This record gives sequence, structure tokens and C-alpha cells, in this order.
Amino acid sequence: MSGSDHRGGHAVVVGGGLAGVTTALELADAGIEVTLLEGRPRLGGLAFSFKRGELTVDNGQHVYLRCCTAYRWFLDRVRGAELAPLQRRLDVPVLDVAHPGGPRLGRLRRSALPVPLHLAGSLARYPHLSLAERARVGRAALALRRLDPADPALDGLDFATWLGRYGQSARTIEALWDLVGIATLNATAEQSSLGLAAMVFKTGLLSENGAADIGWARVPLGDLHDSLARKALDAAGVRTALRTRVTNISRTQSGGWLVRTEEETIPADTVVLAVPQREAHGLLPAGALADPDKLLDIGTAPILNVHVVYDRKVLKQPFFAALGSPVQWVFDRTDASGLTDGGQYLALSQSVAQDDIDEPVSLLRGKYLPELERLLPAARGAKVRDFFVTRERTATFAPTPGVGRLRPGARTDTPGLYLAGAWTATGWPATMESAVRSGLNAAHAALAALGRPRQHPLQEAA
Ligand SMILES: Cc1cc2nc3c(=O)[nH]c(=O)nc-3n(C[C@H](O)[C@H](O)[C@H](O)COP(=O)(O)OP(=O)(O)OC[C@H]3O[C@@H](n4cnc5c(N)ncnc54)[C@H](O)[C@@H]3O)c2cc1C
Repeated sequence: MSGSDHRGGHAVVVGGGLAGVTTALELADAGIEVTLLEGRPRLGGLAFSFKRGELTVDNGQHVYLRCCTAYRWFLDRVRGAELAPLQRRLDVPVLDVAHPGGPRLGRLRRSALPVPLHLAGSLARYPHLSLAERARVGRAALALRRLDPADPALDGLDFATWLGRYGQSARTIEALWDLVGIATLNATAEQSSLGLAAMVFKTGLLSENGAADIGWARVPLGDLHDSLARKALDAAGVRTALRTRVTNISRTQSGGWLVRTEEETIPADTVVLAVPQREAHGLLPAGALADPDKLLDIGTAPILNVHVVYDRKVLKQPFFAALGSPVQWVFDRTDASGLTDGGQYLALSQSVAQDDIDEPVSLLRGKYLPELERLLPAARGAKVRDFFVTRERTATFAPTPGVGRLRPGARTDTPGLYLAGAWTATGWPATMESAVRSGLNAAHAALAALGRPRQHPLQEAA
């Protein structure tokens, strides 16, 4: 396969996660002949679904925000936007079960007012902070607005120290900053680079009035990231090979590339490695990056999902966040999973899961079921029909201070070879948004080198 009849030659994209699928679509849309190679039997990488009896289960609850313009472009591109709609307006129920007067519900909501007033009313009424704490949040938010997340100096600092400097108490960090930050960064404020935290909070809460409105799939993730993605790739003329692990890539004398799998050797003019950082390190030819070992210094962090099927409905809201409990975020996945017999299926999304990730199911059951009964009175009389966990040990890169120095851009030092993946230098933490942005960045860099710059609606992502 040489692709000689296509202007721009043949591109091979390695890795069929969101980054690789995006790269393949964007290159194919520009008229390049593309082959996409994925080691697993499905597309979607870290955001996928599987069958468990009658249930279709996501490996992990995924949400996105209205400000995730690249991921929203992706949803549109694969014709999946209405299957993963956004809230009309941000509204997060936050239930504190440690409140001395008994469980107390608060809400983080926005109004239709302009930034930053859109959150002021909700903050003023947020019951989980004292009056003084709420006032100090306002001051920190204004200071956050003045930060430039791309400033390399911020990358080396940690978010908790900065929050402390702006008078944020341990309670404010727990009930507000970490409540959001743990779920979006997969790290506590102490563990997070100030640059990445500023990126999340500034873009999500302080850029546009609706920026933090939450969206999530009402169908299994695999419907979006595998089935619909595959359909879009096929329609764009991409050759997709699943169960096809790339074992080696090498440069030819004439400046092209050979991509080796266990089955075949594929010649290519352009190669995009859209695989996790460790795999990218293993495949990069000598000289492609000045200091390739930096990729191995990018740490990873786990996410655990706890799945519970009750024999009846125990939660009325589509989701909520918990305080004063090891439970973090709880989502109702009943409809999405295909459960139709009157039971309810809840998924608990547990980020920063270092303490739980290797614990046996029996221990996790003993830990989380009583907590759910504490949070949801209706769960007390309900029968648990199924309990299981999904463990993603390397769910995200760890957004530790200094990680920005380690993340390479899309271009390597070798012509025709590019990198993509949520872990590359997109300015975003390890999210679907970062993955899609990285894919667009890699595709645009490749197209520019081929003399085929393309004005994409999200060109600013590059
Ligand atoms: C449990 C969990 C919850 C999450 N929650 C959220 C959330 O709520 N919101 C959000 O935005 N993000 C969330 N994320 C993060 C998000 O899923 C990832 O950032 C994103 O999917 C990464 O996409 P990627 O394409 O960069 O990498 P990956 O998904 O890792 O894709 C890389 C692909 O490369 C393939 N591959 C590797 N080596 C080879 C090889 N040699 N040959 C061929 N193929 C190869 C892999 O099989 C894989 O499919 C979550 C992640 C997890 C695990």
C-alpha cells in the first residue's frame, strides 16, 4: 500500500483512542490516504464500554464541559452530539453527609448573568462554606482570572500553596476546589500544577457564562467512541485495522517510514504515534526527540469506578457529588446501560484512587455500600443485585507540578513523524478534550509539512 495516487501520500496513525481517531479523521478530511492501527479489538482507548450479562458498562464515567470545544467538535464529527447532551445550565447537587445537623444538600449552579456574576448567587448560597469562606472564594477567583495558565512559571508551582496564599481554608479546598479539581485533574490541589489547575478553573468557571455546563453520554461510551467513530472513519475512507499492534517504526533511506505490525509492514510518508507516553517512548526511533526519556518521567494516576445495581430506584437525580464521604461522584447509568426492569444502576467515579485501586472487591464492597446507604436513604432497604469495580491504573497522566516541561508537542525532530495523545502539550489535563486537541494538533502539523494547511474551525487548538 503506497497511496501514491493521493496528494500528500499515505499516513499511518498508530492508536485508536480519541487522539488517533481524531488525527485519522482530520487527515482523511484533507484528502490524505490514512491507515489507522489499533492494538485492541475496539476503538476508543481509555473511554470504552463492555458487556456484563445484559448490561452495557462503561469502564469509567466520563463527563465533559461546554468549554471543551474540541471534544464537542468530535461529537459533531461522528454525529454523536445529541447522544451526549449538555445540561442547559450548570447544576451540581453536592450532598454533605458529615454535617453535624444531618446530611445537607447544596448546589453549584450558574445563572444567566455574565462572568463572574453567573456563579455569585450560587456561591453566596453554598451551604458547605461559612460566609467568610465564601467571600474569600470570590477573591481567589478574581486572582485566578489574572493568571496565565501557559506561563511556564506556574507549571512548577502547586495549586494548594497558591490557594493558601489567597486565604482558602482546608474546608474550602475540600468542599469546592478539590470537589471540582479531583474530578477534572485526577489530583488534589496539593498534587496539581498551578498551571493546569488555572487552565481548568479559568476556562471552566471564568471564561464564558456557560463554560462549565456539564455534558455526558446517555448511551454507552462505546456507541460514540467505537461504533460511531468507526462509521465516520469508514465514510471518510480511512482503513482501520483493529487487533493490530505496531511493534516498530523505522525510517527508510528515501525519508519515508516503515510501520511494522505482527502481520505486515506498511510504508508511509507520515506517521502519527497516538499511543500512551510509555508506548510512544518504546516506538520512537533514535533522534526523534532531544530527550525521549522525559516521556518516562510523566507519572500516571488511577481512577476506580464502583458499579452497583439495586433492585429499585434509590437516586432521583441524574448525578451528585458527595462531601464527608469516601464516595466522590455518583451517576445514574440505568438507561445508558440498557437496564429496563425497574432496578437502578449507579456508577461511582473515584478519582485519585491510589488507596483503593488494588483493594479486593470484597473490601471495596464493605467500604462503599454502607456509604451509599448513608448518602441515599432509599438504598437502605434495597437489595444489591450486582456489585463490581473497574480499575484503570493509568487512567490519566499525573498533573504534578513540573509536568508541563515533560510534555512534548505534536512535532518531533524527525520529518514526517508526529505525536498525539492527551499527555502531549495541549495545555489541558488528561481529558477527552486534550486527546481530541492533540489529534487536531498532530494532523495540522502533518498537513502543514505536506504543504496542505487546512483552516479547521478549531484552528486555535493547534
Ligand atoms: C476511568 C476513566 C475516567 C475518565 N474520566 C474522564 C472524564 O470524565 N472526562 C474526560 O474528559 N476524560 C476522562 N478520562 C480521560 C480520557 O479518557 C483520556 O484522556 C482519553 O480518552 C485519552 O485518549 P488518547 O487517545 O490520548 O489515549 P488512549 O485512550 O490511551 O488511546 C491510545 C490507544 O493506543 C493503543 N495502542 C497503544 N499501543 C499501541 C500499539 N503499539 N499499536 C497499536 N495501538 C496501540 C491503545 O490500545 C489505545 O487504544 C478518564 C479516563 C479514565 C480511564
